[in-house]
Amino acid sequence: MGVYFNKITSLLDMAGCPNRCKHCWIGHSPNGNLSINDLKYMADSFSPYTDNLEIYSWFREPDFKDNYKELLDLENKLSKNAKPKRFELLSFWRINRDLEYVKWAYNIGVKKCQLTFFGLEEKTDYYIGRKGAFRELLKATEILLENNISPRWQIFINKDNIDEISEVIKLSEKMKLKERCLKINNSFELFIHQGSCDGENEKLYDIRITSDDLYKIPEEFHHLLGVEEKILFNELLNDSSTIDLREEEPVFYVTKDFDVYPNITSINPWLYLGNLKTDGVKKVLFNYKNNNSLAQKISFEVPLCKLAEKCGNPNSTKLFSKDDYLIYLLNQYCKNL
Ligand code: SF4
Repeated sequence: MGVYFNKITSLLDMAGCPNRCKHCWIGHSPNGNLSINDLKYMADSFSPYTDNLEIYSWFREPDFKDNYKELLDLENKLSKNAKPKRFELLSFWRINRDLEYVKWAYNIGVKKCQLTFFGLEEKTDYYIGRKGAFRELLKATEILLENNISPRWQIFINKDNIDEISEVIKLSEKMKLKERCLKINNSFELFIHQGSCDGENEKLYDIRITSDDLYKIPEEFHHLLGVEEKILFNELLNDSSTIDLREEEPVFYVTKDFDVYPNITSINPWLYLGNLKTDGVKKVLFNYKNNNSLAQKISFEVPLCKLAEKCGNPNSTKLFSKDDYLIYLLNQYCKNL
């Protein structure tokens, strides 16, 4: 079987991340310090196998390396028939430390930037894993607005911080974020959800919100919160289909050690495709295309009813979106093998 793809996106974790968020769906790993030659190496490796290549120098914190401007130029240069996106993401760590950064971001077209809260100061610092994070988020909000970029606040909730939702909403009102975004011809967005249940977030399963918490959450956000696990569980018991995780246009995470994983869920051993340096890109792509990683194989071969039967909880009222629940079951199944 050939290993040519219509498009490949590959992301290199050159510098890692300053945070250690407890909800991080990618999962935690040590930060690296890779060079421009490493980024070129990754791009050169994938390039012969597609005519459309999208290259990124990060997949955890964007712009965490001091030469972020040079890296964006290089991403554009190394990409083929594709332009790397910004996903309305910036580094709030850098916004607080580098005066030029937000101006640069505005000039390259960033008009909105997402910032993540977990409640007020104590809870947010705890969840982001860094003292001072909450204050940096507030300062970043101000700096963004001064530079005509709208902040978008997302609030991640579990049972232990759900009571702080109203305080965060009140704070956004006190800071007049709606009015100030309007002044720069933009809208202020705020949304609330519990996130997926993989990576670090999987460890929070026990305190995941349940249906009896819904009354604490403004109704306009309920559609983002999914349904009870037991409803999904029962639905899946009658579902004998399987899921092929392969994409026509795959996206690959490449770690600082050049290990490659498809970006399906967190970086788990059961999704390992091989190492760019020791196995070579051809083997990595072959493994992907043939569903050779354990999780791909399980997903392709084991019916959803079996995943639910083995790993689901028929009594749970925890809230999940269906997609997040399927990934949760798959990870549990692979982990328990
Ligand atoms: S969620 Fe994002 S910012 Fe937080 S640790 Fe993970 S990669 Fe870093």
